[in-house]
Amino acid sequence: MSGVTGLIFDVKHFAVHDGPGIRTTVFLKGCPLRCRWCHSPESQSPRVEIAFHLDLCIGCGACVEACPTGAQTMGPEKIRRELCSRCGRCAEACYAGALVKIGDYVSVGDILREVEKDDLLYETSGGGVTLSGGEPAAQPRFASALLRALRGRGYHTALDTCGHVEWEILRGLLDDVDLVLYDLKHMDPAVHEELTGVSNTLIFSNLRRIARRGAPTLVVRVPVISGYNDSADNIDAMGRFLGDLNIEAVELLPYHRLGVPKYAALGREYPLPHLQPPSVETLEWIRGALEARGLKVIMEGVD
Ligand code: SF4
Ligand code: SF4
Repeated sequence: MSGVTGLIFDVKHFAVHDGPGIRTTVFLKGCPLRCRWCHSPESQSPRVEIAFHLDLCIGCGACVEACPTGAQTMGPEKIRRELCSRCGRCAEACYAGALVKIGDYVSVGDILREVEKDDLLYETSGGGVTLSGGEPAAQPRFASALLRALRGRGYHTALDTCGHVEWEILRGLLDDVDLVLYDLKHMDPAVHEELTGVSNTLIFSNLRRIARRGAPTLVVRVPVISGYNDSADNIDAMGRFLGDLNIEAVELLPYHRLGVPKYAALGREYPLPHLQPPSVETLEWIRGALEARGLKVIMEGVD
């Protein structure tokens, strides 16, 4: 079995929104984008991180004793992150669960053992395993070895990607993937760069290339961010672009605020503090506009 290891930050069992059936979703750490609305800031850095949840801290001081670098304090800043070596000893010492180490290096074998716990569920529901993140293709050797091993064992595999990946890397993964969940955020390259940190040029060209192949099955995922990508111009341009491609469906992902507290726990500021979820009317309007282009539209929780 492959000895390749990768850095993950979560394994979610019983996932029902990341492809068909009941699935296990493996979240790989590290992403080339910095979407301003990102609900999983813990996925972005390709390194281990320490989160601190103030509401759980009982003030015992065990973390300060455990820290070898002096990064842990009982002062208001709590962690002097510039001193932190990310060893995780403070989180091990914190029985209250206020300090959490985010990120673990695991092998392909570790993941297979985790996945096979739900074999019966995959069989009865038509489910499988999804690689998500972060950006799975940002760890190409691990993603490739894992997908190959999963396929070798007969699992249905899905790859959730932001698309900002060298084509040769993405292409190398596709042969072991049954379904691609492909993110599309904005049609204008300059606005896309302002909102996510990168242009959409590579994302568009990779999407076209996958669609031309005709396999794997392609579902395009659009986060709906009020005031940022829900204008008539952008939705119309999206409909025209996607309507010409060979894709299975478009999935609308309404913005939600569940990720907001994570920023404070990581010692970061949330870039869009006043942003609210889109209204049902807005979602229905976008659905109608895309369906008018002949696209099948999926919208979890709104139907
Ligand atoms: S991860 Fe290690 S170095 Fe960083 S604050 Fe915790 S104990 Fe200190
Ligand atoms: S070990 Fe945990 S509960 Fe105790 S002071 Fe540190 S963060 Fe707070």
